[in-house]
Amino acid sequence: MQQATQGAWPPEEFRLQLQQWRRQVERPLPWKEEKDPYRIWVSEIILQQTRVEQGLPYFQRFIAAFPDLFALASAPEEQVFKLWEGLGYYSRARNMLRCARFLATENAGRFPDSYEGLLALPGIGPYTAAALASFAFALPHAVVDGNVERVLSRIWGIQTPANTASGKKQLQELGQSLLDPQAPGPHNQSMMDFGALHCTPRRPLCLSCPFQERCHALLNGQVDRLPVKWKKTAKTPRFFHYLLFRFQDQTWIRQRTEKDIWIQLYEFPLLETRSVDLAQEALLCQAPFQELLAHAHPQMLPPSKIYRQSLSHQIIHARFWEVPLRSEPGPDQTSGLIAVPGAGLRQYAFPRIIRWYLDEKSLSLDLF
Ligand code: SF4
Repeated sequence: MQQATQGAWPPEEFRLQLQQWRRQVERPLPWKEEKDPYRIWVSEIILQQTRVEQGLPYFQRFIAAFPDLFALASAPEEQVFKLWEGLGYYSRARNMLRCARFLATENAGRFPDSYEGLLALPGIGPYTAAALASFAFALPHAVVDGNVERVLSRIWGIQTPANTASGKKQLQELGQSLLDPQAPGPHNQSMMDFGALHCTPRRPLCLSCPFQERCHALLNGQVDRLPVKWKKTAKTPRFFHYLLFRFQDQTWIRQRTEKDIWIQLYEFPLLETRSVDLAQEALLCQAPFQELLAHAHPQMLPPSKIYRQSLSHQIIHARFWEVPLRSEPGPDQTSGLIAVPGAGLRQYAFPRIIRWYLDEKSLSLDLF
């Protein structure tokens, strides 16, 4: 096995090669060269768990709706969730609101200009604190996101799984040792860009790589194996049956109060079962919607196709049942539910799997 010799590789030399690479490649993004901590923070939170192409329109809509921290701090939760709809991980939006309100009332709307101060804010972990500290305040903190993890793991041949605490610590220390103290923001941006554009997860551009003579992964045939990832345990399947009770142009929804990732979002009345297959007769005798189901038209439509969403620990399998009602239900039968007329459903923030269904329905039938 051919080993790389990074021990004799001064950080200055690595940085110089990285800078040379950066001069040839430009990756225009609206938050690049940004110094406003608020905009940097919004972009960083949106881009957690989200690809740049997907996050970009969200960033633009978010900044248009809330151009500064005070605008966000005074926004109703409903409006923030609606703008976030489709991004998933709604705890990020909740924490952003908490953070904005805290800064608006306790810190005159300003972000702290120290890494430790940033780290103490709601929803800000080591990664976001380092990004804000280096991009907004030019403080010497290395940003190690998934792209940077890959670059470091491959060039330095890190065999510790990158998704474990010890792997993260090792990669953070390595990233910090390479940081350019004079220009931490541009250095961090270059590292992230190099991972996103050149040392990509699949088919990295090794033939034109400035580090090909040093890269452990390339020299040792480990490009496909690095970074090492600890295998996660199998995800739990869950089976949801959403009931779309409809009378004339009204549909009934409810707001979730359960303390899970969908808290405060809206959904159709839901039955969770042990299987995705459920006969109509079985559905009709399920609690807790007996009162409403008693109004169901006998000629129900078959359920929708199965929609699947993979979350970090579970896989959701969902079916949607349209349940036309023969007569308008009274308040007793719809307690805890909200009647929404026609296109009004668009105003509510739903979990992503429901939005997929609604988007398909409005495209094909223009029902919603
Ligand atoms: S040689 Fe290939 S694997 Fe190594 S850093 Fe360059 S692009 Fe990445």
